[in-house]
Amino acid sequence: MLGAVMDRPLTLPHFLERAGELFGGVPIVSRRPDRSLHRTTYADFYRRSRRLAKALQMLGLERGDRVGTLMWNHAVHLECYFGIPLAGGVVHTLNLRLDPRELAYVVNHAEDRFLIVDDVLLPLLAAIRDRVSPEKVFVATAGGEVPEGCLGYEELLEEQGGGDFDYPDLSEHDAVGMCYTSGTTGRPKGVVYSHRSLVLHSIVECLPDVLGLSQQDTVLPVVPMFHANAWGLPYAATLAGCRQVYPGPHLDAVSLLELMQDERVTFSAGVPTIWMGILEELKAHPDRWKLEPAMRMVVGGSAVPEQMIREFDRFDLNVLHAWGMTELSPLGTLCRLKQDHAGLDPDSRYALRAKQGLPAPLVEIRTVHEEGVAPRDGRTMGELQARGPWVASAYHRPEEETSSWTEDGWFRTGDVATIDQEGYLQITDRTKDLIKSGGEWISSVDLENALMAHPDVAEAAVIAVADPKWQERPLAVVVARPGSRPEADQLRSFLAERFSRWWLPDRFEFVQELPRTSTGKFKKSELREQFSDPRRSRTKS
Ligand code: AMP
Repeated sequence: MLGAVMDRPLTLPHFLERAGELFGGVPIVSRRPDRSLHRTTYADFYRRSRRLAKALQMLGLERGDRVGTLMWNHAVHLECYFGIPLAGGVVHTLNLRLDPRELAYVVNHAEDRFLIVDDVLLPLLAAIRDRVSPEKVFVATAGGEVPEGCLGYEELLEEQGGGDFDYPDLSEHDAVGMCYTSGTTGRPKGVVYSHRSLVLHSIVECLPDVLGLSQQDTVLPVVPMFHANAWGLPYAATLAGCRQVYPGPHLDAVSLLELMQDERVTFSAGVPTIWMGILEELKAHPDRWKLEPAMRMVVGGSAVPEQMIREFDRFDLNVLHAWGMTELSPLGTLCRLKQDHAGLDPDSRYALRAKQGLPAPLVEIRTVHEEGVAPRDGRTMGELQARGPWVASAYHRPEEETSSWTEDGWFRTGDVATIDQEGYLQITDRTKDLIKSGGEWISSVDLENALMAHPDVAEAAVIAVADPKWQERPLAVVVARPGSRPEADQLRSFLAERFSRWWLPDRFEFVQELPRTSTGKFKKSELREQFSDPRRSRTKS
């Protein structure tokens, strides 16, 4: 017997219609590049998102066409998050921290038909312009000039967005957005979200034991909108009707604290590097800042140090540790204590809160080792695998990579973890050796390959070392070719020709030979052990 309930599609138009109808007066605040604040409301956001959708339809956007956005976090980007999929298109958020070559690769791989770019990011566009060929580029300006060869975003809305707009007939399985992740093999891979995955992800994020977003909240997503849907916050916050505050390009601790204080933010999210800076500022000037009591801060992207949770507690600011991935939309787990943990002593509570936490409803996790599924004993490590209605089932152009899924349909995360008897996840390592600096990936493999192309280098292994500000920074361990003596500065300049500055290793260590595993791979665990302790290393940079 089948259930007799309506089969209404789980699609984004409902979010926008609801927001426009019920929350018209709710403010959306964005910081402009010149630091001034732009204030708008859900009513305007509703109107402009529909205008964007209409304008894209008038330009001939077809269902499934990709529109790339190269933008910071602000209200116009939020319009793109909605307007593009409402027209049947796919919003492809472009990582503005990518090296131009990689950015061009991603635009071409996704076949972005149109691009929408912040005027302050035009130099980055110029760096890829001769390698990409979008049909049109629209520039969102704060009243400035639109360069030759581009069109104005405001003019697009004004001239093409008028008149009636009817939502196309969208299936909940249609693609809604796209985000590229860095893969272990170096090439970024495209993750494609659907209306259904996004709707379910947003609803679950709003649950009290997940992010607990409500209409009472003022949400400040610090996590970039180009990275994994800003952890889904723009969609979840719109569903809940939260006040929304966006930092634009100003991500320094003082600018963020000003926004938190002045706009009375109750909920924020970002990588540990951001919170580390905020904590330092709070400690340096405790009387300068008055934030909302018990403001929640979701911290993820890298492991959160227990000490950080403790220190924020002293300021009555509540860290929620989360684990996620681009391939998981991105929410996987979130650390909340259970009711019966109330009696635990403070140290045990902090130890628990530093774990990555419990899987969100509808997400299943397991760890797998050589003997099969690992026991949930909090000790046995295994590769973390996940499945659920917002976990990617393939990458864009699936034929290029299938090894990330098991035969029985689980996604292989590449993380190594334990799960305890109560279901709490703890990430212990990464099977992949990418380096995560300030929330963004650096591929050790790419750096190694480049270094080994230097005439004076025989072998090179790049590892992550802990860094108090960036969480991790690359360190290169180099074996010189017989008879040559390369210098750190020389190698750094050599790499600088190919990589962005923040990719360049901070330290170079020179050794006679590199340790190897039985299969001949560099034994990075040994290198990490040797060089992560600064007292034991002989820095030559
Ligand atoms: P990305 O797809 O760029 O968001 O990166 C996802 C990866 O970041 C995961 O596979 C983990 O290796 C790492 N990661 C995310 N959150 C955490 C966390 N809370 N603790 C440790 N590692 C994390």
